[in-house]
Amino acid sequence: MTARNRREFLRTAAAGATAALLPLPAIAQGAGGRVVVVGGGFAGATCARFIKRIDPRVTVTLVEASPTFTACPFSNLVIVGLRELKAQEFGYDKFAADQVALQMSAATAVDAQARSVTLGNGTRLAYDRLVLAPGIDIRWDGLPGYTEAAAERMPHAWKAGEQTLLLRRQLEAMEDGGTVIIVAPANPFRCPPGPYERACLIAYYLKTKKPKSKLIILDAKDAFSKQRLFQNAWKALYPNLEWVSLSTGGKVTSVDVGAMTLVTDFGRHKADVANVIPPQKAGRIAETAGAADRSGWCPIDPATFESKLQPNVHVIGDASIAGAMPKSAFSANAQAKVCAAAVAKLLAGAKPDDPRLINTCYSLVAPDYGISVAGVYRPADGQIKEVEGSGGVSPADAPSSTRALEATFANGWFSTITGEVFG
Ligand SMILES: Cc1cc2nc3c(=O)[nH]c(=O)nc-3n(C[C@H](O)[C@H](O)[C@H](O)COP(=O)(O)OP(=O)(O)OC[C@H]3O[C@@H](n4cnc5c(N)ncnc54)[C@H](O)[C@@H]3O)c2cc1C
Repeated sequence: MTARNRREFLRTAAAGATAALLPLPAIAQGAGGRVVVVGGGFAGATCARFIKRIDPRVTVTLVEASPTFTACPFSNLVIVGLRELKAQEFGYDKFAADQVALQMSAATAVDAQARSVTLGNGTRLAYDRLVLAPGIDIRWDGLPGYTEAAAERMPHAWKAGEQTLLLRRQLEAMEDGGTVIIVAPANPFRCPPGPYERACLIAYYLKTKKPKSKLIILDAKDAFSKQRLFQNAWKALYPNLEWVSLSTGGKVTSVDVGAMTLVTDFGRHKADVANVIPPQKAGRIAETAGAADRSGWCPIDPATFESKLQPNVHVIGDASIAGAMPKSAFSANAQAKVCAAAVAKLLAGAKPDDPRLINTCYSLVAPDYGISVAGVYRPADGQIKEVEGSGGVSPADAPSSTRALEATFANGWFSTITGEVFG
């Protein structure tokens, strides 16, 4: 991508945010049928609304466990006191006007033979097509010592809400001169650049509020998203930030919560504040439905997002194995639109289109310093692959005005996507 094309692409992505290259049929195909969507996050809420827009005759029911959705993007700013959690919260009151039926209850079981979903409130919903969009669950058996109780001392803050506020309170309570440790997991996990954006913003908080403190990232990887851009920024802005890679002993093998200690094969690291981002898997209902494989994630057809394990069940968003696409809200929203179009076609007995999908992930290195990575994707060889030459990252040597502009693009993207999904 040339610099000009990339600028153009970023502007389009920021302005239209989610206007992916989507094969949405312009005219309803006259399908009808019943679709149940489980999970009202970036993927599920988008999908439910778009199916209805594409073919109003389809009966769409959105099943969501919580009446308030708390968004993760921008929650790293909440952790460091630069944003309130309220700004992350969204409701579902606009869905009725779109003729999307709402069930505020957790889906607890799926009978793929009978094509029905059972909810915690006892309701049983029959479907012709089921869309699962449950996001992630923590693998509580994935890191020895890291239990649900441990997360109350060493928050993950990888699902936004109480955990976000807990980490914020811990940082606020820490004495100047303390040590903050972030534990970053191996791939795949929700939001590949997220731990490093968080590290930047915590480093910014420490630099401005508690300058004698230090921050260590213990990482189970040697490489990560936007690595060069992050590392350049750390060198320039945050000398008290230390990244320990897998090869240099960063992989945490267990946690000792009582001693506030992270254990690696190379030694023990004592923390005053420990943010443990643990291994993850698809939200539990995907496993219950038989749509997750041994990896804990859900294999899908790259054109329709139909499960490779359960017919008539589609999986979108973080829960899916979406090849080269990262687990991001932007991806989830784009996948939802492709899946909506495919479901409408399949219900009408038509052939789904060959889709193109876009993702852009912004990260804030400081409140007025943004960087991004972007890509265009398509099905190829049974997977979702990046279109060669389509994407790229922010230039390494950009002036501060470009960084500031990208921070405003990030803000614009968040307003646009949440407006589209929940507004
Ligand atoms: C700190 C952080 C920063 C991030 N920053 C960005 C960013 O800048 N840009 C970006 O694009 N992405 C970002 N992400 C990633 C983004 O949050 C996720 O990729 C996105 O939320 C995935 O959407 P989803 O719909 O798959 O899952 P979610 O948004 O988590 O939605 C899942 C929904 O399903 C519901 N649910 C689950 N199980 C059930 C059930 N059994 N019954 C009923 N409902 C159920 C949940 O309550 C939830 O509402 C960030 C993530 C983190 C942690």
